[in-house]
Amino acid sequence: MPRERIVSAESQSEEENRFNYALRPQSFSQYIGQENLIRKLRIAVEAARQRQEPVEHILLHGPPGLGKTTLAHVIAHELGAQVHVTNGPALTKGADLLGILTKLGRGDVLFIDEIHRLPAIVEEYLYPAMEDFKVDITLDSGMHARMLTMRIPPFTLIGATTRIGLLTGPMRSRFGIASHIDFYEPQALHEILRHNARQLQLEADDQALWELSRRSRGTPRISNRLLRRVRDFAAVEADGKLTMSVVRDALELEGIDDRGLDEQDRAFLRTLIEVYGGGPAGVEAIAATMGEEVDTLVDVIEPYLLQTALVTRTRQGRRATKLAYEHMGMKYTPPADAGDDPSLFAPGEGEGD
Ligand code: ADP
Repeated sequence: MPRERIVSAESQSEEENRFNYALRPQSFSQYIGQENLIRKLRIAVEAARQRQEPVEHILLHGPPGLGKTTLAHVIAHELGAQVHVTNGPALTKGADLLGILTKLGRGDVLFIDEIHRLPAIVEEYLYPAMEDFKVDITLDSGMHARMLTMRIPPFTLIGATTRIGLLTGPMRSRFGIASHIDFYEPQALHEILRHNARQLQLEADDQALWELSRRSRGTPRISNRLLRRVRDFAAVEADGKLTMSVVRDALELEGIDDRGLDEQDRAFLRTLIEVYGGGPAGVEAIAATMGEEVDTLVDVIEPYLLQTALVTRTRQGRRATKLAYEHMGMKYTPPADAGDDPSLFAPGEGEGD
């Protein structure tokens, strides 16, 4: 059973999903942040509408909790289309996909989360569906085998992945639009938090909302989760008003520091610094020492540490930066092999090495 982690970017309960659902933007104009991506998508949607064709298939990649699922709903809403939601591991055989494809209406959106975990056999079915809106079904086997081609209505596939590097080449090449979703600036998270506090009729000091936005690890799902926690704290300890001291006290109780890092993030930095002398260390070794899954480190913990330059990823492994030592209150001694190697990968792009 994984420990519950308040700054985890992954959803933690059905109840949380319902809470988030209620606060989710419905249209491009309500969507806060990701301006370039939204502009690109608006154009694609408008052009498709003018041509009365479905929008090109869209691939969204980036860490969890940044709004990939939300965007799929927004796009469907803008198109006046239905959205059908599934995920890679749920589709174990061709028939699972077929069941979904046959339910699609013309111009509908099919959202496949964790598309990098789609089994190869299902991918094979998906290719002709994406390209020519058809599926080839083999009936019987051996001498009597026959191929039946079934037409499906034109649709738009939106694929989401936290691990673009694990997507096969043929899969990647079938998306007309592929875009990375970046961590949000505190400014955008502040706007989201202000909007959501209003929706929840929570009286909040602006300063308190800024503090929350700075401690949200660039992730709207975490902003919403922190908002919920501090709202409870405010209700019990401060007559319902969200002030700076409520935020500080509530987050201290949760073990979230001023950079938004929690105990697990700090354990990663501590392991890297104390056990591996600041690195370079391979992610498998760090995971083994911490007793964590490599995937959790790569998908959930590392991206934000890389983004905020607490950790660098080099050919030899992960390395703690001077900033990480300072943040952990530890003395920094520059590595013997002189300086940080330039990272060979953009943050969040490469895979565990
Ligand atoms: P992902 O699919 O990338 O894991 P989600 O789309 O499920 O992320 O987003 C998690 C939650 O964060 C959403 O339910 C929504 O409440 C909130 N959220 C995400 N993006 C935005 C945004 N741009 N503006 C406001 N809220 C957002």
